[in-house]
Amino acid sequence: MPLQIVHHPGYDAGFAVNHRFPMSKYPLLMEALRIRGLAIPGALSMPEPASAARLKLAHAADYVDQVIACRVPEKIEREIGFSVGPRVSLRAQLATAGTLLAARLALEHGIACNAAGGSHHARRAQGAGFCTFNDVAVASLALLAEGAVENVLVVDLDVHQGDGTADILKDEPRVFTFSMHGERNYPVRKIASDLDAALPDGTGDDAYLDRLATILPQLSWQRRWDIVFYNAGVDVHAEDRLGRLALTDNGLSAREDMVIGHFRKRGVPLCGVIGGGYSADVPALAARHAILFEVASRYE
Ligand SMILES: [Zn+2]
Repeated sequence: MPLQIVHHPGYDAGFAVNHRFPMSKYPLLMEALRIRGLAIPGALSMPEPASAARLKLAHAADYVDQVIACRVPEKIEREIGFSVGPRVSLRAQLATAGTLLAARLALEHGIACNAAGGSHHARRAQGAGFCTFNDVAVASLALLAEGAVENVLVVDLDVHQGDGTADILKDEPRVFTFSMHGERNYPVRKIASDLDAALPDGTGDDAYLDRLATILPQLSWQRRWDIVFYNAGVDVHAEDRLGRLALTDNGLSAREDMVIGHFRKRGVPLCGVIGGGYSADVPALAARHAILFEVASRYE
């Protein structure tokens, strides 16, 4: 079975090429996946925009209405890092629905990835840090509300701490949030996950993978997980503009193999989302994000 991939052309909100957020990585990732023989018809799904009701499972009703109406207060737009016009609003609704769709495909097929998502800084009250809606939190709460799952694990390996996910899910005992991130990186004020692992600047492949290898079994001892959401942010890479860690391509590849292998060997469905990655060299960045899909495609 080819890897199930979720994508939508509307994931690209068409920012200027010199914008701090490298928006063109979304179409370039799809191109990279096609070149690698992934993203083929029959294994490619497109989401419909998420409804307001669904988004309100994780976010304050007034904030959801502001995003959908493109009337987000300027102060919040500044915290997000871009203004929320029609394309950005639609993009946020599509990417969120894409993670929920990928989660459903993972429950059916064992593994699936959204070619976007991982907007983990969006809190219940508002967006922040290039994140408008928190796709993983919305998808988790939607699956729980439907009774499709009872125990959800979030493994967030983006280099930035998963403060928004922790904020939204802190009073939801059916979801366990784990974040491993750079200690000195954004956000300055971190919101405690159920488990946090903070790494010093310059952590490279070996120390990173050793730490992860000790934590993954601890996560699996706790409960029988019905699904794991994996935020595979590539901003841990040595060449990332915001990262401060020092992973290589091989390190990234070993990380994806360690995480995916760990859960798939235990029969836990895995929904991958791409998370953060920042570089002026966007084709190189897209190739880094493609590693998740290459590794995932070796698992069923
Ligand atoms: Zn990040």
